[in-house]
Amino acid sequence: MPRRHFRDLIRTGPVQVGTSYDHRGREQHTAACTAPRCGFSADYDSRAAAELAARTHRCPVR
Ligand SMILES: [Zn+2]
Repeated sequence: MPRRHFRDLIRTGPVQVGTSYDHRGREQHTAACTAPRCGFSADYDSRAAAELAARTHRCPVR
């Protein structure tokens, strides 16, 4: 997970969703899986999209 300052961090299963600002000061929403060896991480324009991705994520590793 990149070193960014996240706020409103939540966890859905193994996936964390946090809101941060990119280098242009725009909000972006990141879903990142915390499971070892999974490595899933993606940025979304909206919080809803990030939370949906977190809820529907299926770890390839288990
Ligand atoms: Zn995963």
